[in-house]
Amino acid sequence: MKFQAIKGVRDILPPDSALWNRVEQTAREVFGTFGFAEIRLPIFEPTDLFARSVGEETDIVSKEMFSFWDPFDKRLPYEIGSVEARMRGMNVQSLEEYGSMALGDKFQQISLRPEATASVVRAYIEHGMQTLPGNVKLYYMGPMFRRERPQKGRYRQFYQIGAEVLGTSDAPGIDAEVIEMLMRLFERLKLKGAILNINSIGDKNCRPAYVEKLRAELQKVREQLGEDSKRRIETNPLRVLDSKLESEQGIIEKLPRIADHLCADCRAHYDEVKRQLGLRGIAYQENWRLVRGLDYYMRTTFEITAPGLGSQNAVCGGGRYDGLVELLGGPATTKGIGFAIGTDRLVLSLQEPGEGAAQGRPAGKADGPDVYLAWFGAAAQSASIGLARRLRDAGFVVELPAVEMKFGKSLGLADRLKARHAVIVGDDELAAGVVTVKRLSDGTQQKLGEQELFSYLRAI
Ligand code: AMP
Repeated sequence: MKFQAIKGVRDILPPDSALWNRVEQTAREVFGTFGFAEIRLPIFEPTDLFARSVGEETDIVSKEMFSFWDPFDKRLPYEIGSVEARMRGMNVQSLEEYGSMALGDKFQQISLRPEATASVVRAYIEHGMQTLPGNVKLYYMGPMFRRERPQKGRYRQFYQIGAEVLGTSDAPGIDAEVIEMLMRLFERLKLKGAILNINSIGDKNCRPAYVEKLRAELQKVREQLGEDSKRRIETNPLRVLDSKLESEQGIIEKLPRIADHLCADCRAHYDEVKRQLGLRGIAYQENWRLVRGLDYYMRTTFEITAPGLGSQNAVCGGGRYDGLVELLGGPATTKGIGFAIGTDRLVLSLQEPGEGAAQGRPAGKADGPDVYLAWFGAAAQSASIGLARRLRDAGFVVELPAVEMKFGKSLGLADRLKARHAVIVGDDELAAGVVTVKRLSDGTQQKLGEQELFSYLRAI
């Protein structure tokens, strides 16, 4: 029997994993300098949380979530497993009545998270973070799950690095700083060709009227639209603007634009975000068709595209979601803005030829260990275990063979592992209180005491 990973999920292997770590580490450092701290969230949540926040009508909630019924009754402790006990706990009289009850009345439905903003907001409310001073600035990283059709840059388990700012202020300076933080991260990672697209999609005062106008216009051209767009006229007309379908492009160009329908407050907010991006020296493109797939967004929306990704070229999406905290039962005064970077896509783009951060290790460092510690004989083994420990304490990468090998075989392995040096410890070396150091790139060899060995390795 041979097992394979499920379609749409994948393993991230060395050396790629080193680049992943570097991306995540750089995000931690950059976000830290902006005063963000990490929140670690559960991988699964009640399905209702996503239905409420992401929106029942979205593709994500309507068809892409991995959901299951928790076999434990939601009103009973875990220990009570039998149907009889459940019935008693729920005051159900007969097995028939129990059998006819809706699943939702008996069990809790759970989903693997398709995104993490809902969880951050849930946690914010659950832990009363609105009492903390200033804005609450949080970042997270980890896997998300959506049952999408797999292709390059689109997976069923994918990873995001995201950040959220929650607080009572919706000052445009917050939007601009969040975007600045992102661009600084991409700069630090030497991501080339990243393009920032921005838009404002209005708020609850002006968007409904625009959406109705859009819907009315779409009705007029209904017969020229594809199936997805036809459906969206009713469910979510804004999403039609997202369409990549060639035949719809000419029609979409003629549709009313939200920029012409923003209320005065949204217009002023948007203008100030743009001015503040300018103050920060951040280049952007305005894209009136940029809407986000999740229902909770309003006002500022943005997306960053990167080269080398084909049609799935968005590496990051984000925006403002001022009503979400209230929608999930928190204080109406709390506003929010955030983004999520698609880590898989960011890494793919960094691996494009010519990209700076493609190596996980610092420049000039080979993939293999610094030292391959070849020992011969029991006394040398014991000395080598001690030496390996001291070298590792000093930060060197050491490969210590677990069993004794013949000299040729051992040194051959050092070569194949791409070690930079073989350090040889045998009876002669032990007697003289030295080790033999062989530089594997050119075969040069010398005998050194331990202190000299450390100085020699450090100097390289
Ligand atoms: P969203 O949460 O839909 O706004 O997506 C934010 C970012 O996550 C996107 O810009 C992508 O980079 C990434 N992303 C979303 N869905 C997937 C997926 N199925 N596979 C890989 N990356 C994804």
